[in-house]
Amino acid sequence: MAHVKLHIPGPVEVSEKTFQAFCSPMMGHRGQGFKDLYARIQPQLQALFHTRQPVYLSTSSAWGVMEAALRNLVARKVLCCMNGAFSDKWLDVAKRCAKAAEALQVPWGSPIRAEQVDRQLATGEFDALTLIHNETSTGTMSPLAEIASLKAKYPDVMFIVDSVSSFSAIKIDFDGLGLDVLLTGSQKALALPPGIALFTCSTAALDRASHAADRGYYFDFLEFQKNGEQSMTPSTPSIGHVYALASKLEDIATEGIENRYARHLRLARQTRDWAAGHGFNLFPEPGFESVTLTCVNNGAKPGGRIVEVPKLQSLLKDQGFLIDGGYGKIKGRTFRLSNMGDESDESMSRLYAALDHALNRM
Ligand SMILES: *Cc1c(COP(=O)(O)O)cnc(C)c1O
Repeated sequence: MAHVKLHIPGPVEVSEKTFQAFCSPMMGHRGQGFKDLYARIQPQLQALFHTRQPVYLSTSSAWGVMEAALRNLVARKVLCCMNGAFSDKWLDVAKRCAKAAEALQVPWGSPIRAEQVDRQLATGEFDALTLIHNETSTGTMSPLAEIASLKAKYPDVMFIVDSVSSFSAIKIDFDGLGLDVLLTGSQKALALPPGIALFTCSTAALDRASHAADRGYYFDFLEFQKNGEQSMTPSTPSIGHVYALASKLEDIATEGIENRYARHLRLARQTRDWAAGHGFNLFPEPGFESVTLTCVNNGAKPGGRIVEVPKLQSLLKDQGFLIDGGYGKIKGRTFRLSNMGDESDESMSRLYAALDHALNRM
């Protein structure tokens, strides 16, 4: 089957080297070989998370840990900061976990701002908040440092942050920002196959979890902590993912983390320029565009060029590229181009050339 190059915002293209690592021979997850591998990647993961806390590996997609954070940490009421499909869904998940939850809803394409969060937390009703740093559905990045600065004012509120599509593409200083949970998945900015999630949590979060009577087993943060001390996971992990992650951490070290951040920003800017150069507007509010994907406005907001998205996708597919045709209620009225993971100036140039070719035929 001819391979179609993925430029959707997850899953993204997986390198040959990562795949080879993923296919390493199996070993026992309670044996020394696994413990050595787990221990070897810990310092590299802690450096990426900018934390002295342990980093945990959950064999689940990101949603597993997103749900787990609610079950472990929400005792009274959670404030769900919502500005797109994933962050909106987190409120629904909280309700399905029978948690008291309230929406802080802003329009899709707008970032979450600190003053809005402050106003809600000032009610004193909340002991946790959920925030998506980079709303993948709208290509909008919220100002995390500005929001996290509220932690000093509300120390008892658990700050739960999803960085699924921004982790390792832009600096997120977990300890410095004073966050309580930072989580990510594997198939977005880390460019691994889907199936594992990574997270870290503050000591305050572990303490809060210890009082949660209904946190279950599979996603019990204290089980992760206890097993982590022995360089193990609570249950049998996807061992292939751990090999693949170790390989990716080597790649990141070789490139240099600052170079990795700079590459994502540069490629996102190139994509924004490509869009502007072809008469399109962007969907996110100016100044809050994602560094890992570009959400092009195509009639969801006034102004700019409008094309027939399914036709554009089909013309690209003929050339071996898959792009996203918009998510949820902005499907067809936006389209998204991903530059996350291993993309380079060369690979993005090939995408722009294919887009040019497709637009010329529309
Ligand atoms: C993709 C995505 C998720 C969900 O990830 P799954 O791997 O499907 O669980 C959550 N949050 C954000 C920001 C995402 O982009």
